[in-house]
Amino acid sequence: MTTVMLRDARIFDGIDPELRDGSHVLIEDERIKEVADRPIEFAADIVLDLEGKTLMPGLIDAHYHCIAAEPNIAKVETMPGSLLAQHARGLLEDSLRRGFTTVRDAGGADYGYAMAVKTGLIAGPRIFYSGRALTQTGGHADFRGLHQDSIECCFCAQRAAAFGVIADGVPEVQRAAREELRRGATQIKIMASGGVASPTDPIWNLQYSEEEIRAIVWEARSWRTYVMAHAYTAEAIARCVSFGVRSIEHGNLIDAETARLCSEKDAWVVPTLATYDALAAHGAELGFPAGSLAKLEDVRGAGRRSLEILKQAGVKVGFGTDLLGAMHRYQSTEFLIRAEVLSPAEILISATSGNATLLQAEGQLGVVAPGALADLIVVDGDPLSDLGLSAGPGRPHSAHHARRSHLQERAGLTLRPLVFAGPDVLGYGAFNQVQEFSQGVDDATA
Ligand code: ZN
Ligand code: ZN
Repeated sequence: MTTVMLRDARIFDGIDPELRDGSHVLIEDERIKEVADRPIEFAADIVLDLEGKTLMPGLIDAHYHCIAAEPNIAKVETMPGSLLAQHARGLLEDSLRRGFTTVRDAGGADYGYAMAVKTGLIAGPRIFYSGRALTQTGGHADFRGLHQDSIECCFCAQRAAAFGVIADGVPEVQRAAREELRRGATQIKIMASGGVASPTDPIWNLQYSEEEIRAIVWEARSWRTYVMAHAYTAEAIARCVSFGVRSIEHGNLIDAETARLCSEKDAWVVPTLATYDALAAHGAELGFPAGSLAKLEDVRGAGRRSLEILKQAGVKVGFGTDLLGAMHRYQSTEFLIRAEVLSPAEILISATSGNATLLQAEGQLGVVAPGALADLIVVDGDPLSDLGLSAGPGRPHSAHHARRSHLQERAGLTLRPLVFAGPDVLGYGAFNQVQEFSQGVDDATA
């Protein structure tokens, strides 16, 4: 057993919007053993004096795609899994360095990615994976162009680790959902409306019938989990939550009435605003298809307003980003965009304890509390008055030079996370590596 003592921390515990000064935390292996407002009498193996810096739960991104190596998903679909895994490694390592210790992958990641992190083979956030997202023919995860008739991603082809799988009709969606659940998916992702990145479906397009959605929801429930659905319009969202979907992804075009319905049905909505701004600014230069850029404006402007509508209706709001390719470097801009409408406390609670509840990991993740996993970050200052502390922009990232970009990031990162995570995430070897990383940043910024 390895024990770590963190002395003299200011704590943001993920729930309470007030910071607690002069706190002490004892970690035993991967879990928090004790949190006290006075020194803890214990001879720990590792003792770190935080000198009043803020200790907080690691951030959780509830909408992530670690195989989105390129903004053009049709291109991603043609890349071998072995290559995607190498890209994913860079994206995951960068996310960890931004302070994200957990991500919920919304399509693409599988058991292998989760295990690579869990066993310490790569440094990255814990991955709650959906496996392949379920899509109907012509739906948001069907990336074939109008001219293209072959079905490489069809259900019968059984390609693993692709972004999505085409399944039509109740028996096919049941089998597809069962297949992902068999492979250990922690939740099932479906495409329930048109989307930006896909070539043939307008945003207003409704996807999947009532029978299909209800059948998928039943399969997920039978595994004690839930369905997350990509949905933009109020109509698509209302259908999903009425049929039992628990987590609505994006939700940009929601209206007040539908927000009330979400609240009534106890559904979550996970806005992903960082991606629209990043795509508008950099999509074209990075190869995001022209047809998709044209659809972007249908949803981008409404995104910020959706935050107000959700807040007024008291809807539970998750924190997600949905970034593609090199634009992953804008992951932390989600904090700043939301700050135009919400308070820092609201945003940070959403990105920690809120998202943990969404991921069915309440009390395990997203909190600084006894019994919770010790996925912790340290920021120098008060994140509740200066969100910028947890929203460092990151350095330019090239997916092709992921390793090198870490070194650049090391030299100039404004967020200074000391990431402590349990051995089942990083292992203590990596723990030391991260310590060394933060040391390097301190040197560089001194
Ligand atoms: Zn989506
Ligand atoms: Zn997505």
